Amino acid sequence: MRKNLKSTAETMRNRGSSFSIREDGAVKKQWRGRLKICLVYPNTYYVGMSNLGLHAVYSLWNDIDEVVCERAFLSENGETPRSFESGRELTEFDVIAFTVSFENDYIHFLRILSQIGLPLKSSDRHDHHPLVIMGGAAISMNPCPVAPFVDCFVFGDGEEVVADLATTMRATPFLRHDKKKILEYLLAEVSGIFVPALQGYFPEQPIKRRGLKFINSFLTKTEIVSNFTEFSDVFLVEVSRGCPQKCRFCSVSYTETSTRFRRLSFLKSAFDEGIERVGRVGLLGAALSDHPELLDFADYIVSRGGEVSLSSLRVEAVGPKLIELLVHSKQKTLTLALETGSQRLQEVIHKRTQLDTLSHVVTTALDAGVKNLKFYFIIGLPTEQTEDILQLADLIKRVHREFLAKSKSLGHIGTLTVSLNPFIPKPTTPFEACAHVRVEELERRFRLIMTELEGLQRLQINHEGWDTAILQSVLSVGDVDASEFLLATHNDGDNWRKQVPRFQSLIEKTIYTPKTLSHVLPWSFITR
Ligand code: SF4
Repeated sequence: MRKNLKSTAETMRNRGSSFSIREDGAVKKQWRGRLKICLVYPNTYYVGMSNLGLHAVYSLWNDIDEVVCERAFLSENGETPRSFESGRELTEFDVIAFTVSFENDYIHFLRILSQIGLPLKSSDRHDHHPLVIMGGAAISMNPCPVAPFVDCFVFGDGEEVVADLATTMRATPFLRHDKKKILEYLLAEVSGIFVPALQGYFPEQPIKRRGLKFINSFLTKTEIVSNFTEFSDVFLVEVSRGCPQKCRFCSVSYTETSTRFRRLSFLKSAFDEGIERVGRVGLLGAALSDHPELLDFADYIVSRGGEVSLSSLRVEAVGPKLIELLVHSKQKTLTLALETGSQRLQEVIHKRTQLDTLSHVVTTALDAGVKNLKFYFIIGLPTEQTEDILQLADLIKRVHREFLAKSKSLGHIGTLTVSLNPFIPKPTTPFEACAHVRVEELERRFRLIMTELEGLQRLQINHEGWDTAILQSVLSVGDVDASEFLLATHNDGDNWRKQVPRFQSLIEKTIYTPKTLSHVLPWSFITR
């Protein structure tokens, strides 16, 4: 169904890579007289362009006539990153704005600063250097591990704050002349921002995240269609923000001000655009399963000749009508985030999926034409015991049996994929102060599952190295001391594993020691 990129699409050479990228929708503006912002995703073009937040901020800034916003990414061969639109050096911009969704990208952030020749620490940068600002989902939870490297953080929804930032910066003569003055000015004029150089690493006054109140006044959708992203054949449209479920391990319900749903009447133009430009529309939103108009969205897109694709769903949302629409849209895989195979742990984490309803969902999906199933699980959840792990293995075995039997009777056998991920405590959640399960124990639990599942056909198990949980947890719940770990990693060729022995006491304090009630969490100055 994918349509060709328009003939006006420009063929660009991805700097530092050998493939050719075709895009439709990039904005090119003259620089003269405009505030120049380089929006940087600290990962590769492929990863960054798959992030809807980057598209949203790019569009919001370029909608302002007095602003020119270009993009940059991590180069894959070590070359100095340059802006994608005009090929300029990043230091030619007034502002370098990083958007960070995942903590592991902090390592790339430092690499980019060093590649473009900027001193890493904010205090070592001078008045003539571009201002380094940072926002994104990871930052809105806990900016502390990168606090010494950033001039100004932005907490919350971009829609609310990017125009304020641009207007305020344009209104002063201080940009690239007097860094302290511009930071003071921003702090006085824009809410939801954090300037460590002026406020310290733990400000006395709380800082409130900016929350988008009127979600039906902004469309958040793919702006640039590219042939080189994870979603190159899908036009993404965000249909909700926040989540009402309040699962205790997930930050979405706790960082967002509330759950907000976009209405079909508001989204029709975005769906039409998606059908026209790509053909397939991907609906995004943490609360997708709870959206009261989910079926209407799918109906609308299919009735206009488009295809619809959905990210992972809660089991409770999957009914015959939804599956029928997915199959009609050629979605071959049904993805469910189950988190745990233990009914007891389902209650502990407040996910509350009734696992005994899973067989019915699987059978309905396969009967309707779904070929593959994918389940997400977390290992190391608070209070998890060996018994819970065995119940997880039992659940997989049961579903696998039913999957094979049903698939054989239908004459086609797809793949059952199980993705196993370590529990990472997230700031702002009820589990934010929980200690992390040690890597050796995570590995033991994983081996136990693998032993139980040995020899099962058409079962694919995906997992990362379990020790990466150390890095992710330190960067997730670390305080400003974690910045030293990042710096040492950077100075040693980005090899974080080599730093583990030297930073053992930081790691013990940050992730293996449960926090008591009197412990002041480093991100607790950020409020909703
Ligand atoms: S895990 Fe999913 S359902 Fe639970 S709170 Fe997060 S987004 Fe909502």
